[in-house]
Amino acid sequence: MARQVSPDRALATNHFRRFAYRLSKKVVEWFRCNGREFPWRTTSNPFHLLIAEALLRQTQAERVVEPYLDLVSKYPNPEALAEADVNELRQWFKPFGLVRRADRLIQCARILISEYRGSMPNDLNAIEALPGLGRYNSRAILCLGFGIPAPMIDEGSGRVLRRVLGHEAKGPAYSDKCLMSIAERIIPTKSAREFNFGLIDVAAAFCHPKEPDCARCPLARLCNYATESGRQGCASLSDLKQRQAASVKSVNNQ
Ligand code: SF4
Repeated sequence: MARQVSPDRALATNHFRRFAYRLSKKVVEWFRCNGREFPWRTTSNPFHLLIAEALLRQTQAERVVEPYLDLVSKYPNPEALAEADVNELRQWFKPFGLVRRADRLIQCARILISEYRGSMPNDLNAIEALPGLGRYNSRAILCLGFGIPAPMIDEGSGRVLRRVLGHEAKGPAYSDKCLMSIAERIIPTKSAREFNFGLIDVAAAFCHPKEPDCARCPLARLCNYATESGRQGCASLSDLKQRQAASVKSVNNQ
C-alpha cells in the first residue's frame, strides 16, 4: 500500500526545491524577454493598482489601457475618488458591463480615507475586506504595491501551475488552498512581480484551456501535462526525474 506523505513534508524535499527554483527561473527569464507591457505593470502605487484591478476583472487587458490611464489621471488618490460623481465614474465601466465596480471603488476610497488615513493597508486581510476585492486582487495589490511575494493565482496562472505540477483541478484556482500553498513555495522572493506576470502571460500566450500550445511553451520541459499528453519535445533524463519528483501526484503517493 502506498505510504502517505504530507504535502508539507513533500514540498520541503530537495527535489521540490530544485524544481521550484528551475520553474521560477524559467518563468522570470521568459517574462523579462517576452512579457507584455501595460501601464499598471510599471506602477507600485497601491491605489492605482486598485483601479487597475477593478477594471481588469473578466476583461481583456488590452481593452483596459485607456480607461486605466484616464481614471488614474482624473482620480490619482482616494481623496479625489471619494468625491467623484458616481454616474460619471460609471461611464468608464459601462463598456465592460461592470457599472457596480464604480460604486465599490468609491466605497473603497472612502474606507481608505476614514480607516487608513488615505493609504492602502499592507495587510492581506485588510485589503481583502475592502469592497469588491477577492483573493486574487488582494494578493496582486500586496505583491505589486508592497513588494510582498504573494502568488497571484487566477484561472490562467492557476491553469499553468496545475498543468506543470500535475495538480488535479478542484474548483476555481483562486480558491484552491493546496495550489496556493504550493505557489507560495515556488514564488521567488526577489522577482515575485515578474514571476506572477510571467505565469499570467504564459497562460495568455500558450496555455489555453482547450488547446495549449506546448510545442512553443517555454515551460514544456518542466511540464507534466505536456509530457503526459505527448505534446512536448525531448526532455532530458534529469528534467524528467525532477519533474516526477516535484509532481504533486507523485509526492502525495510515495
Ligand atoms: S507546456 Fe503546455 S500545458 Fe504546460 S504550461 Fe506550457 S502550454 Fe501549458
